[in-house]
Amino acid sequence: MKNMPRSTKPAIVIGAGAAGIIAAWKAASDGAQVILLEKTKRIGTKILISGGGKCNITHDGPLEEVLRAFRPHEARFIRPACYRFRPQEIVEMLTSRGLDVYTRPDGRIFPVHQTAKDVVAILRDYLRDVNVDVRFETPVLNLETDNGLITKVVTANEDFEPGAVVLSVGGSSYPNSGTTGDGWPWAESLGHTVVPILAALAPITLRDARPELAGVALRDCILRGRQSKEFVRWRGDLLFTHRGVSGPTCLGISREVSEVMVSGVANLEVDVVPDRSFELLTEEFLKWSKANPKKRVETWVESYVPKSYANELMRSTEISSDQVATNFAIKLRNRLMNALKGLDLGPVQEVVLDKGEVVAGGISLDEVDPKTMQSHRCSNLFLCGEVLDIAGPVGGYNLQAAFATGFVAGEMAANLVLDQ
Ligand SMILES: Cc1cc2nc3c(=O)[nH]c(=O)nc-3n(C[C@H](O)[C@H](O)[C@H](O)COP(=O)(O)OP(=O)(O)OC[C@H]3O[C@@H](n4cnc5c(N)ncnc54)[C@H](O)[C@@H]3O)c2cc1C
Repeated sequence: MKNMPRSTKPAIVIGAGAAGIIAAWKAASDGAQVILLEKTKRIGTKILISGGGKCNITHDGPLEEVLRAFRPHEARFIRPACYRFRPQEIVEMLTSRGLDVYTRPDGRIFPVHQTAKDVVAILRDYLRDVNVDVRFETPVLNLETDNGLITKVVTANEDFEPGAVVLSVGGSSYPNSGTTGDGWPWAESLGHTVVPILAALAPITLRDARPELAGVALRDCILRGRQSKEFVRWRGDLLFTHRGVSGPTCLGISREVSEVMVSGVANLEVDVVPDRSFELLTEEFLKWSKANPKKRVETWVESYVPKSYANELMRSTEISSDQVATNFAIKLRNRLMNALKGLDLGPVQEVVLDKGEVVAGGISLDEVDPKTMQSHRCSNLFLCGEVLDIAGPVGGYNLQAAFATGFVAGEMAANLVLDQ
């Protein structure tokens, strides 16, 4: 009898992203009649572009370690959901239908041969198997309430009377993918607080961009954010773009940079030799210069960094490219070592919200029950995924948070409609 709908009023799931798909599937699996309303022509648009089209599905390892990647209040909030629907469970759902996955040494789980498309195709099959009624190109426009309950879900095509509503419309980055922050004004009108939306996991543009470096990748460096003193750092690869920087280190610090920029300017600084101290570098240079007195200093710099970055280092430290090792003044040498340990990239122009993998901010976690995802403001509303104030780092964490909170929201929405 599990799949027989018993309630006349459906559970309406708004948004067919990672959270909404799992919520709809779970609610329908538990016997609720489920209508999944999606603005665009397809499900899982962000899953399709995730991990560069490969989809970093989730993150492996002890669950407490996975949770530690999130800020403490976010980890506290998603903990019950992640124990209810662990990373292994989404993996099992996908592998049991033919997806091969592998775990990178850093814990990220990806499909082996297949791509994000195959992940979405499997999830589509799950929805079909439990008869979720998916309505494409059906943007929800408004939620009507009466006596603290949502009584009508208004769409561009028709209106629905819900027994329960799962709000899973995501955030507002990549607005072309359908996510335009629609959920936040509705939540506010229901009495929820929306924590200010900021860019996260996003590229950064610089006031003094260095287009000549566009395309240059620095391996294993440290990117630091400074505002009078250092406030954030991330170690990994850095990519220069036409207007600034991107790549893992940039995404890693982008949320903190956005936050600091609310109250002032932030500068970026890059250390391209993180395992060498100023003193060790100097020692290495002196040894090299003894063996190569006639060689250009820039040649030595090129043994640490790509040629174009070496060139930029010489230019920005105002050391001539023709400078040879033998008569390199101590003052200039110190300047060069300092630049290798921390080249000032200048002030940040913008952390580009539209191009972020997620946004920080969203519906306040204090107003949602972490065990049920039920709103404290509206008892037939369940919230999940990025519409909430959750933003994990790169590594499969955000999809995991969306899947897990979606699972619980769907389960509880089904409980509610089946009890009515
Ligand atoms: C480029 C990129 C790469 C990423 N890579 C990864 C990765 O590899 N691993 C990882 O863990 N995370 C990744 N993320 C983050 C991850 O995709 C998101 O955290 C996750 O998709 C959020 O899920 P969600 O269901 O909350 O929202 P979304 O997946 O954004 O889904 C929301 C859905 O709601 C629909 N919608 C919006 N408004 C309405 C409306 N008014 N009516 C009806 N429907 C509506 C949207 O069309 C969309 O389908 C990436 C994100 C981006 C942008």
